[in-house]
Amino acid sequence: MKPCEPPTPSPTADFPARLIAWQKTHGRHDLPWQHGEPYGVWVSEIMLQQTQVQTVIGYYGRFMARFPTLAALADAEEAAVMEVWSGLGYYARARNLHRAAREVMTRFGGRFPSAVEDIESLPGIGRSTAAAIASFCFGAQEPILDGNVKRVFARVFGIDGFPGIRAVELRMWALASELMPACDGAIYTQALMDLGATVCTRSRPRCDACPVGTACVARASGRQRELPAPRPAKVRPQRLRFALLLLSRGQILLERRPGHGIWGGLLSLPELAAQTPSDAVIEAARWLATRGLMAGEPETMTPVIHGFTHFELHLVPLRLRIPAPAPIAGETALQWLPLTDAHDAALPAPVRRLLGRTDIE
Ligand code: SF4
Repeated sequence: MKPCEPPTPSPTADFPARLIAWQKTHGRHDLPWQHGEPYGVWVSEIMLQQTQVQTVIGYYGRFMARFPTLAALADAEEAAVMEVWSGLGYYARARNLHRAAREVMTRFGGRFPSAVEDIESLPGIGRSTAAAIASFCFGAQEPILDGNVKRVFARVFGIDGFPGIRAVELRMWALASELMPACDGAIYTQALMDLGATVCTRSRPRCDACPVGTACVARASGRQRELPAPRPAKVRPQRLRFALLLLSRGQILLERRPGHGIWGGLLSLPELAAQTPSDAVIEAARWLATRGLMAGEPETMTPVIHGFTHFELHLVPLRLRIPAPAPIAGETALQWLPLTDAHDAALPAPVRRLLGRTDIE
C-alpha cells in the first residue's frame, strides 16, 4: 500500500490527514478481525452493522471457532449458523451471510472477491460494507458511509437534515468520495470508524480529544446534540369525521357507542356517514328526518382534533337546534342529557373538550 506524502494544508485535505495521523496513535489496532483474512473481516463487518463492538467480539470468536473458513460456513446447515448467531439479533444478517458464503463458493470458486462491485453483489452487503472490506483487505480507495460516519460528517461539516433522507445521504456520499485520500485508504477508513465509535459518540462526544475538533462546525456552534438531525416524526394520517351537536333548551343529544371499537360503550355525539362537508349537511338532514326531528340549517363548527396512535382525528361538529328535547322512539342508544350533567358523563376526551368550549351554545 502506498504511503502518504505530507499533506498540503487545505480544508478538505486536512480532514483525512488529521484522521490518519490520529488513527496511528489513538485508533484501535487490536480488534480480533483486524489484519486478518477477508472472510473474518467480512463476518465482523456484518456483525458490526447493528451491534456494538464489545458485544460483537464474543460472538465473532464463537462464530469463527465454529466456522473457521468460508468453505466451512458454506457447508453448514442454516440452523447451525442461526444457532451461533442466536442472541445477536437481526437474523437476516446470518441468513444472508450463509447464502453469500455459498455464492462465493459457486460464483467465485471459493475465493472472496476483491472487486468492490463483486463484493457488493453478495447478499447482505451494501455499498459501505463492500467498500470497507475492499479497503481493509484489498487496499481499495473506496469511501464508506455507515451510521458513525454520517454522524461525524453531519457534525464536522454542519450538515442539516436527517441522514436517512435520500438528498442528505447523497450529499454525504459525495463528501465521502471527495474526502477519500489517494493513499492510506485503509487507515483513513479505520480512523472514521474509530472516531465515530470512540470519540464522536452519539450522546457524549469527547470534543476535547477530537483530532478534527478545531474544524468542527457542531463544536464551534454548540450543536453537537442537534446534529445529525433526528428522524422526522412520522406524520399521522388524518381522518375526518362529522358529528351532530344537537342542542335543545340546555340539553344535548348523545349516543351510546357500541361496546367494541374506538370509544366503545362511551356516550358521544351521533356520527354521520359522510366524507365531505356538503355530504355531511345532506346526511344530517336525512338523520333528523328519519328520527322525526325538526331543525334548521346546520352550522359547521371548528373541528376538535384528537391524536390516536395511528391517526389524527378531526371531528367536525354540525350544530343544530331542536325546539324541544323529545324522546326518540326506538333509539335506545340516544339520550338527552342536560349540558351541565354531560360534562361529568363517560365521554371521549375530544367530545369532553368540545363541550367545554365556549362557542357550543
Ligand atoms: S469536535 Fe466533537 S462533535 Fe465535532 S467531530 Fe469531534 S467529537 Fe464530534
